[in-house]
Order: sequence, then C-alpha cells, then structure tokens
Amino acid sequence: MICHIEVYGCQMNVHDGEILSGILKAAGHTVVRNAKIAEAVFVVTCAVREHAETRALGRITHLAGIPKKKPIMVLCGCVAQEHGEKLLKKIKLLDFVIGPDVYHLIPELLQERRRLSVTDQGAEDYEQVKAVREQFPRSYVTVMRGCDNFCTYCIVPYVRGRERSRPSELILKEVEKLVEAGYGEITLLGQNVNSYTHNGMNFPKLLEKVSTVAGDRCRVRFVTSNPRDLTAELASVMASRENICNQFHLPAQSGNDRVLKAMRRGYTRNGYIEKIAMLKELMPDIVISTDMIAGFPGETLEEFEDTVSLMKEVRYDYAFLFRYSEREGTAALNISPPVPVKERLRRLSILQDLQAKITLEKSREIIGREMTVLVTGPARRAGQMASRTMGNRLIILESLDFTPGELVPVRIVKADGYTHFGEPVSV
Ligand code: SF4
Repeated sequence: MICHIEVYGCQMNVHDGEILSGILKAAGHTVVRNAKIAEAVFVVTCAVREHAETRALGRITHLAGIPKKKPIMVLCGCVAQEHGEKLLKKIKLLDFVIGPDVYHLIPELLQERRRLSVTDQGAEDYEQVKAVREQFPRSYVTVMRGCDNFCTYCIVPYVRGRERSRPSELILKEVEKLVEAGYGEITLLGQNVNSYTHNGMNFPKLLEKVSTVAGDRCRVRFVTSNPRDLTAELASVMASRENICNQFHLPAQSGNDRVLKAMRRGYTRNGYIEKIAMLKELMPDIVISTDMIAGFPGETLEEFEDTVSLMKEVRYDYAFLFRYSEREGTAALNISPPVPVKERLRRLSILQDLQAKITLEKSREIIGREMTVLVTGPARRAGQMASRTMGNRLIILESLDFTPGELVPVRIVKADGYTHFGEPVSV
C-alpha cells in the first residue's frame, strides 16, 4: 500500500513517525511524501495544547480529500491515546485510531475491514523496528517513554503512560550503529530523561557510556529534563566530555513558588536558579532554553511578574512560550480562578517581547567567535547550507561547498536572534 505520514508535536513524535515508517516498510508498504497518491494516510498527533490538537484534527478532513479515492485514514499519537474510540464516532472519515504504544500492530490492522481504535498503553515493541530516519546527519534515540510526574497542567502522563526505561545495552547498540552509519549527532529522547533508570544505571551514567560509544566524530544531545531531577552528577558528566553538547533545555514553566507548587513541578524558584548557576559554572558558554506558561489558573499579576523577572535574571538563549491551555483530565482544571484567555494572551505577548529582545542580545554576543559547526543540509534559501553549533544554534553558510555530516570551523559574522551567519576559517 502507498502510505503518507504527517507528524505534529515534539521530537518524540518525530522519531515515532520514523519508527512508524520503518514498521510500514518492513511490512512491504511504501511511504511517500506526496499525499496525492496515498492509499493510506497517517497523522501522528500532539495533545499537549488545545491548538495542536485542533490543528491535527483539522488536517484529517483536508488530507482525506487530497487523493482521488478516499484513502484509509489513521489517526495516531497522543490525541488518539487521549480520545480513542470517541474519535471514531466523532470523525466519520477516520478508519483507525492508534495509540503511540501499539504501532507494531498497524500492518495487521490495515488488513481489517472494520473501523477500529486500539490504545493499549506501555505495550510498545519497537526494539526490532528499523526506523526510517529522515534527518541525516542528525538522529534520535529513545531512552525512555512515559512520565510519572503528573504536573497539574500536563496531559503527557495520561497519553504516554508510566515511565519505562529501555535496556542500556540496546540503546548503546543503536548508538553504535548510528555512528557506523556516519551520523554526526545523536539526541537522546524521553519525556523526562533524567529519571532514566535500568539495572541500576541512571541517566548520567548512560550519557557517559553513550558519549564513549559516540566517539569524537559524533555529538550527543538529550531532551527533555525536569529541573527537579537535574543533578550535579549529570552536569559534571556533560562538562567532562568533549562530544556532549553544551546545550540544556530546562523548562521552568513559572518564576513564582506558589504557582510552581500548584503546577506540582517539585522545585522552587531559588532551587531552579541554583541549578542554572551550577550549569553555568561548569560550562560558562552553555546555551540554555526553557518553556514558560503564561496565565496558569490562579496566577496573579505579581506572580506573573516573577516569571518575567526570572527570564530577566537567567537570560535564556531561547524560550518556548505558551499560554495556559486547559487539558481534559488534568488536575489544573480544578484550580481556580481561571485567568481569562484575553489576559493569558496579553501576558504571553509580554514574555514573547522580552525573550525576543534577550535572544537578539545574546545572539549578538557570539559575533566574531569561532566555533565548529555540523553541516545539516541545504538551508531554506537557495545557495546556502544550514549547520548547527554544539549549542544547537543555527548557522547559515553562504556556500554549497559542504556536505551534510561535515564538521566545519567557522567565525560568526552576523546574527539576528535565531539565525547566525558563519564564514569558514582554516584551522
Ligand atoms: S515532567 Fe514534563 S512530561 Fe512529565 S508531567 Fe511534567 S510537564 Fe508533563
């Protein structure tokens, strides 16, 4: 069958899309980018915010209408897990609703003539799957799935299930194969990688082993960390290894202790700032990003100002900023009073303006510096190549004389916030 896959949401979903592609290919199906010729269409959805959910569901109708003959429509990912059977009743165009832990059943289900919803949790069996990777020279390796933290605004524990860590020997074998295949970067994935544990191996030890297997031609990143689980052990492993990227995504969500408690984040503002200080002390040129929520239920103006002041104090290189979005089944729905949506949007735009200013200032601080970038592929504009620093900054090279996977020493000559321009320098 000719299949088309569309993915929304986080890197975990992107990699699940690569796993799904591998499952379909192994079963003799073909996966194509062109939806027009598809006989089956898979939409891998994200449920983290209402907007993401509505957008993905909207695509179903659009994609079902593209090919001449209506294709088999399969809704996958977190929205499938969240609503399951209900979606089959709600969206007549859908043939299957498949949760993120049962993609290995899809080849069999495609034989079915009935409309079905399958959302068993924690049953994934993807170790035998050869993922079809789409991001050479960058690659993803899942180290754990699920989350047990139940932050009060978050749907993830409900749609991704309880934490389960992959055996370290299987992770290391996958890393070895990627290095042999010439990948220049590996990102370790998990909803909360810091709580990885398997046979007594914790995440810092796993990271150290991955760094050893990756060697000096492959960089290692990881995402996502909960600040409560960030340890000095992890920071010192990062600082002691050349090939572990000096980049850390540390979602704060709020700068106010009462709000952090209501979010059930498990750390305080000062505790968070101490962890940032620990990272900066061990890795002075570390690139730090975060997530922030504006307008969490009950958040007062003063408490919101604490988020503003935290962003001014930490001066993140980047930040993913969101307005609070009600998620069915999460504990925050019972917290009142809700902040009116208009006010959430007003607070969000204050954070966005502030961060845009900080990102621009920080990006200009690296003009004139020399760094080694990993060429990742053609840039959006013709005649340019895209590349990434260890800090994951996007560096544009004004030439096509480079190949994906190449490591190139450059001097930063221009910066405008999210994009930098680099000139190759001879070593
Ligand atoms: S740690 Fe992250 S994924 Fe887990 S519940 Fe909290 S916000 Fe959600």
